[in-house]
Amino acid sequence: MSNKIWLSSPHMGGNEQKYIQEAFAENWIAPLGPNVNGFEKDIEHYLKEGVFVAALSSGTAAIHLALILLGIEKDDEVICQSMTFSASANPIIYQNATPVFVDSEKETWNMCPKALEEAIIDRTAKGKKPKAIIVVHLYGMPYKVDEIRAVADKYNIPIIEDSAEALGSSYKGQKCGTFGDVSILSFNGNKIITTSGGGALVTKTKAIKEKAVFLATQARDAAPHYEHSQIGYNYRLSNVCAGIGRGQMEVLDEHVQLRRTMNQFYVNYFSKMDGVTVLQEPSVDFYSNHWLSAIVLQSYEQREALRLALESENIESRPLWKPMHLQPVFTKYLFFGNGTSEDLFNRGLCLPSGSNLSVADKNRIRVVLDAFFK
Ligand SMILES: *Cc1c(COP(=O)(O)O)cnc(C)c1O
Repeated sequence: MSNKIWLSSPHMGGNEQKYIQEAFAENWIAPLGPNVNGFEKDIEHYLKEGVFVAALSSGTAAIHLALILLGIEKDDEVICQSMTFSASANPIIYQNATPVFVDSEKETWNMCPKALEEAIIDRTAKGKKPKAIIVVHLYGMPYKVDEIRAVADKYNIPIIEDSAEALGSSYKGQKCGTFGDVSILSFNGNKIITTSGGGALVTKTKAIKEKAVFLATQARDAAPHYEHSQIGYNYRLSNVCAGIGRGQMEVLDEHVQLRRTMNQFYVNYFSKMDGVTVLQEPSVDFYSNHWLSAIVLQSYEQREALRLALESENIESRPLWKPMHLQPVFTKYLFFGNGTSEDLFNRGLCLPSGSNLSVADKNRIRVVLDAFFK
């Protein structure tokens, strides 16, 4: 059997081990140190817009802290894009708050601004005005930033921007990860860059970043002994892992280009084919890192048949994220929408998208596609 072709696998740049070695040489084997500071500076510099970055142990931890920073408490309602990875929604439950799920629109597959407004109007009329909106750039495709921001501002509700999949993407020339009142990034193993596991919170002020770091390091008050007046968390990133991140930041733009080339391979392949659409930027305002390339087929059956055909050749593919309102753990919560995300889930498939796929890998994928669609 030939080697497995993965959907998205880690792709090291080369300097990661240099930064790790520095951590060992200086004995900074801790969740703080020069690599943590350096990695934060690298991301701040990359994102621009004068943001402040706190490196954390995961993107999930970052969403949890974002909710805490926005004052989300028990029984508060928080709107969340339904079509996403469960980590976008789980921290709402960690806070004993209540998720309200909102459907996608057809162009970017992200939160539908109309359904968002319906949800806000409905909940507000019932005395449960939502306290925050969690919106996602799925597969690296920016959501409709201006439309979502207009609705959020109209009702004065803060946005948590889940940019876990979208480092390197931008909207109207501004980097994803800078559009939220608070934003988050992920550096898990399969993301566009990785620290093996890690994440970050992106804030607009130094004070909010410092509050996040305080909470992420057990909320220790200023005192010679250990004094606590708040519940804290152990959510900081390891200085060893941050070293991987520094090396990865050096190759981020190159990896975005490679993922975009991979996406172009699928766009070209399917351009002559009726009944298969590739997720693409709806206009020049949108610039996707194309973390994952995804297609929509004609039916659930055809989607499954293609997935199995690829699997039989040791090529990984995966159905799109199953919407949260259809997940057994979340079915009891409210959902606002018209079925767009469910339809996408039924017919959609993510294809191998890594920045490290070879010409031979692409040929193996092409052979399976040719046989399937002939
Ligand atoms: C990966 C991911 C997360 C969670 O990030 P971790 O670092 O794995 O905790 C959150 N939201 C989305 C959309 C993701 O893809």
